[in-house]
Amino acid sequence: MPTASNSTPPDVAESIAGLVPKLALVRRAGKSIGFVPTMGALHAGHVSLMERARAECDIVVVSIFVNPTQFGPSEDFNRYPRPRETDLQICGNAGVDYVFYPTAGEIYPPGYRTYVDVEGLSTILEGAIRPGHFRGVATVVTKLFLIVGANRAYFGQKDYQQQLVIRTMTRDLNIPTKVIVCPTLRDPDGLAMSSRNAYLSPAERTTGLAISRSLKLVVQRFQAGERDLELLRTTLSASLANIEGLAVEYALIVDGTTLEDVTSAGQELVALVAARVGKTRLIDNMVLQPDS
Ligand code: AMP
Repeated sequence: MPTASNSTPPDVAESIAGLVPKLALVRRAGKSIGFVPTMGALHAGHVSLMERARAECDIVVVSIFVNPTQFGPSEDFNRYPRPRETDLQICGNAGVDYVFYPTAGEIYPPGYRTYVDVEGLSTILEGAIRPGHFRGVATVVTKLFLIVGANRAYFGQKDYQQQLVIRTMTRDLNIPTKVIVCPTLRDPDGLAMSSRNAYLSPAERTTGLAISRSLKLVVQRFQAGERDLELLRTTLSASLANIEGLAVEYALIVDGTTLEDVTSAGQELVALVAARVGKTRLIDNMVLQPDS
């Protein structure tokens, strides 16, 4: 990730009161706002969302907030990387205008009581393994959407279930921000970029490559015309089996909209994998388009 900069540093707001009036002026000037919510430890995947926002909107806002309510008690909230200066430089290089960098107390002040729950979608798959995770995500994204008031907000396909939860929540609550989902950026070896990849040792990284390799194999079989779902599922699980150091949590092919089980390959499907490599949890997915 290049850090040398000849760009204008973004305007950093740590409080809601410091951000909202500035964005109100932007709106009053008739300018459109593109918003990229992140937890920081920015990589090229995040930058691709900023670039898309830059290309489609007049003003780009990025939030950097490691949201405590989406982490379980035994998860990595405390050790999650927080490289503030590098992140701000990356935002500057990407042409971001405003960075919202709140404290936990700014988002959840004493007496905070309100949460957003997207029923059903929040309790399966990632939500079953990480109880309360999507409640935390939907709550913080609702708050950020209301604070920023963006025309468009950009999310990665990398977190497939998350974008479904956010699209559903935005529709159900009539939030007038258009949610745009962007492709997953990968390292040249295929590993989906993630802030958590920094936790991996070189050997663990090699082990983790089995995830994208197995997903790619399924996509290749599908594109070659294979429509027998049981065979495709076997391909996925067999290519993840017996890999030392890889503990698969789920490897599934499900409906791309509901994430429910399917028996025929008529609609858009998604292959989803979650696995642990050492102490690090990795997720990845690839879409199976019937017409591709
Ligand atoms: P995070 O900082 O992990 O909460 O991610 C912030 C946003 O970046 C989310 O919308 C993610 O889906 C997206 N994102 C994370 N990794 C990637 C990637 N490899 N490619 C594209 N988008 C990504």
